[in-house]
This record gives sequence, C-alpha cells and structure tokens, in this order.
Amino acid sequence: MDCMVFRKRLNDLVEDNIAYDLKDAMLQHIVECEECRTVYEDELSLDAAIKKGLSIDSKAFKSSRTQIMKSIDKNKYGTSPMKKFMNHLRKYRGTYTSIAAVITVAIVITPYIGKSGLGFTAKKSENMSNAQIASKSSESFKNEMSTAKSAPKMQSNSVKGQAEAKQDTSLAITNRDIPERAFEKKALNKTYMPNFNNGWTDSVNKKYSATVEGRGISSEDEGVATIVVKEAVTENQWAFNLLNNEDQQSSPKSVYWIDDEKLLVIVGIAQGHASKGGNLYMLNTNTAETITADPKNTANLQNGSEIMRVVSTNKLPNNQLEINIEVSVYDDDIQNEFHAENRIIIVPIK
Ligand SMILES: [Zn+2]
Repeated sequence: MDCMVFRKRLNDLVEDNIAYDLKDAMLQHIVECEECRTVYEDELSLDAAIKKGLSIDSKAFKSSRTQIMKSIDKNKYGTSPMKKFMNHLRKYRGTYTSIAAVITVAIVITPYIGKSGLGFTAKKSENMSNAQIASKSSESFKNEMSTAKSAPKMQSNSVKGQAEAKQDTSLAITNRDIPERAFEKKALNKTYMPNFNNGWTDSVNKKYSATVEGRGISSEDEGVATIVVKEAVTENQWAFNLLNNEDQQSSPKSVYWIDDEKLLVIVGIAQGHASKGGNLYMLNTNTAETITADPKNTANLQNGSEIMRVVSTNKLPNNQLEINIEVSVYDDDIQNEFHAENRIIIVPIK
C-alpha cells in the first residue's frame, strides 16, 4: 500500500467501515510508515474529542443535537448523518486550530446543519479550494458562523396574525427541559473591581447594584461569567458563581432586579456566540436560593427558544410577580429563522 491510498481511505479506517483485507493492509502500512501513523493517531484522537464534544452534558446542547438529527436530510446524507457530520469536521479540521475549537465549532454550527444538511460547507467548497478553506483561521470561521446566526431577522414586539399564532403552536415542543440551577455566594474584598462587565444595574431602591462580570460590555463574549452584587452604603461585595458547571458550558448572561433582594438571571450557553439568551431564574441575593422562574413553561416556549431579556416586572397582589420577557421564536422547525416576541409570565414570589 502506498501513502496516497492510505490517506484516501483513512476516514473509513477511523470509522472502521472497511473490508478486512484493506484494514489489514492499512494497519500494516502504519507499522512501516511513521508519517501515516502520526496522521492516523491524530485522526483517532480528533474522533474521540469530537465524540466527547457532541455528548457534552448540556441539556440545551442535547436538545439541539436531537433537532439536527431529526432535520438532516436523510435521503441526501444516508442513514447515519452524525457520521457524515463527523467526517465533515474531520475533513475541515485544518480550518480549526485545536480540538477544543472543533468542539466549539461543533456547538456553534449545529443550528445550521438543519436546513440544508451540510450545505453551508458544500457552498464554500464550490467557491473555494480546500487549501483556501484550510488557510482560514478558526477565528474567522467562528465569526462567520456567528454572523450567520445573527442574520435571522429580529422583529421586536411583532404583532402576530391568527394564522401565524396557530403555526407557533404546531412548532411548540411541550416538554421543554429547564435545568435547575444553583449559585454559590462568596464575599469579595471591598476594593475588588469587576472588569469586562456589562455595567452596574441598581436595585429598585438603589440599595444594591449588580453586574455580570466576564462576558464583556454587551454580555456577548464567550466564557463563564460571575454575578457581582455590591451594597451601596457599605460597599460590601459578593460574587455569585454558578454551581455544577465544571464543564464550563453555562453562564449567567444578564440580571434584572425585582426589588432590593431578588434578581432575575438569564442563564444560557457559555461558549459560542450563537446563543444570546437562555432560561430564566430567580436568585435571592441574600440567601443565594435560586429557583426556576417558569418551571412549568407557562410562557409556552418552543424547545430551543431562549429568553433574550427581561423587559419589565410588576408585583401583583398575593405574592405574585408578573414578568414581561422578550423571547426568540423560531419560524421554522429547524431553528434557522427566528423573531423576537414578548411574553408575560406570572410567578409566585415569597
Ligand atoms: Zn504512508
């Protein structure tokens, strides 16, 4: 066997999708050829990393993965679309600088695979040689992806007709999974200055202020953020860190004061720029007790829909709180196009 044949069938070998005799010949080849052995070992570790990346224990990611699997055109890509997807990542791995980047890209590009299978790269290959694709840095590739994601039109406060409202219901997936969250409260030094934050928000009577530190001024940078709360008079400060987040997949994204004690916190996916919102939680900054703001999904959000921001809150009698939220609503069941809508939820507060 020569190196060219080996390289040509390498993917099949990694997938263990070849005839016995060819497999033997290839395994014999890597005993003799150090160069091909290195390439093969790289492929194997990349394969393992991608598989690991795709089974990240993040409920949000899992749900979009299910969505991809459902929406990939099976006629076009055969019965194992995930295999094709992985082959695709392998093929273009020169585009990415590291395995971690591949995993990030895997997460970032998931919303795109739906509409046209792996169409977006197919399109690329028509206009660009592989070498050109490979020469693109991972950063520019990711940026391209995030631009593509922000392309869906946002229509604020859109007024929806009856027909459209009906369509929403058909897209809604009722058993939306909202993970429980918990925060750890830690005292900070008074002189601590949160940087890379999205500005301070005062509580209702300006007793406290809060900020989300670690995601930049618009809270859209990647990474796991910390909520910092400061008491106006004493200048005491506390950090609230998301617990059970060892895989660094989730992050608080924005905060909204209900009064001088409780914060509404949007927690979403930490990595990638695709996801701007998340799920809504209520954090008691005194006790650090955290509850899911709308556990029964009375907002009737589709799977994959996110709460983008809290618009306003209004305390009702009987310890009820009315929360006006802006949410993303998908216009198609493959989550490519969405618009913003306002929803009102009513939740109990102590
Ligand atoms: Zn060789």
